[in-house]
Amino acid sequence: MIPPATPPPAVPLRNHDLAELRRLDVAHHLAPQQDWQALEDMGGSRIIVRGEGCNIIDGDGMRLLDGMAGLWCVNVGYGRSELAEAAYNQMLELPYYNSFFKTVAPPTVTLAAKLAGLLGGHFSHIFFNSSGSEAIDTLIRIVRHYWQVLGQPQRQVIISRTNGYHGSTIAGMSLGGMASMHTQGGPLLPGIVHVMQPYKFAEGFDESEDAFAARAAQAVEDAILAAGPENVAAFIGEPVQGAGGVIIPPAGYWPRVEAICRKYGILLCCDEVICGFGRLGQWFGHQHYGFTPDLVTMAKGLSSGYLPISAVGVADFIVAAIKSNPDDFVHGYTYSGHPTAAAVALKNLEIIEREDLIRRTREDTGPYLAQCLADLAGHRLVGEARSLGLIGAVEIVAEPGTNRRFGSREGGGGKAGIVLRDICIANGLMVRGVKDSIVMSPPLIISHAEIDRIVDTISAALDAAEPVLRDL
Ligand code: PMP
Repeated sequence: MIPPATPPPAVPLRNHDLAELRRLDVAHHLAPQQDWQALEDMGGSRIIVRGEGCNIIDGDGMRLLDGMAGLWCVNVGYGRSELAEAAYNQMLELPYYNSFFKTVAPPTVTLAAKLAGLLGGHFSHIFFNSSGSEAIDTLIRIVRHYWQVLGQPQRQVIISRTNGYHGSTIAGMSLGGMASMHTQGGPLLPGIVHVMQPYKFAEGFDESEDAFAARAAQAVEDAILAAGPENVAAFIGEPVQGAGGVIIPPAGYWPRVEAICRKYGILLCCDEVICGFGRLGQWFGHQHYGFTPDLVTMAKGLSSGYLPISAVGVADFIVAAIKSNPDDFVHGYTYSGHPTAAAVALKNLEIIEREDLIRRTREDTGPYLAQCLADLAGHRLVGEARSLGLIGAVEIVAEPGTNRRFGSREGGGGKAGIVLRDICIANGLMVRGVKDSIVMSPPLIISHAEIDRIVDTISAALDAAEPVLRDL
């Protein structure tokens, strides 16, 4: 049984002047990843004023079940007074100090040791940053420096996947494979090669799992050979691609990719920003798939989003090589190892352990979500409903048994997810639309009843959306 989430603090809702907040939002706030004109046309953003357990509450008092855990991050749910206390106590004692001056604060070191223990194997060391994007920049800096120290500075190529997401800084969006970001953000960081994603539903519909896994992995080897193995520094991938639409690779993909990286002596990098901290039912996604990366990025669930903090786990052989170089590693951020963020992260990990959220995700809530989605897969507009642990996606199709999309005959397609998302939100469920799918990643404290609500709301939304979808 799932224990109830920590009861919300008995703090009365503040009386916000919503109209004024929305006016200020339009007048002064530039929202991330948004169409600013569209936001202005709708009179400003929805004001979210509170979170409780798995729910968020807006300024009008509407309660939404947060099927996205914020942005894939609020793993322990909202309203955790322990996390507020951890921040409060650390702020009174030492809110901030840097780690540049041969100095460090206690929570920073303790968290590094904790993460090294959770990663296990050859990961004894951790580098801290504040966001997933910063972690990706750190990863690229370490990868490049490592090969320079080894006397192979020509190893500049990093292989990544189409539709992968690795952040929004210039390095992050270049490394990621989001075409829309590349179009706006260029010129891109040179030396990055994108290969096909392991998205079987869209790109291998008629193939067997194994044939598709082999073909997608072969694309990595082909890219290595095309660049010349001696020029390739690393491969990077998310265990499950999150922002790209919860792309769950077929079994056989990751072991093959790992073997290919080993064959050519290329660093294997794993972006665990979404998959880490229990999302797939293990501490880390690579542990689910059974491969051993050389560098691991983490963020989001590390602090359940209560404060910004991210980390990079670096394999011992890389650390040893960099230590053998007499120079400083000239990279780091003001907030690397931020003491208050680290204290909150430590308390968050303690909650995840104490409430056994990872085993529950693996053995109870994850399988329950999969079972509910399997029922939903019978809906005539659902092409596939997949999940792993507590991350999932529903593919919307125009014809049962196919992967044909609404509106695609007219060269369109890609809009069904947004239609569905808006209906779900209007009915009290926060989910995200990604092209022709909707994706979910609820807090790990979610109950069976709340999972039922997610799936029932999506099912009803599909019925309601059908006339609109047939018009696309
Ligand atoms: N990597 C992955 C896999 C992500 O999902 C994200 C964010 N969604 C990032 C990196 C970037 O993290 P941030 O937004 O904290 O910079």
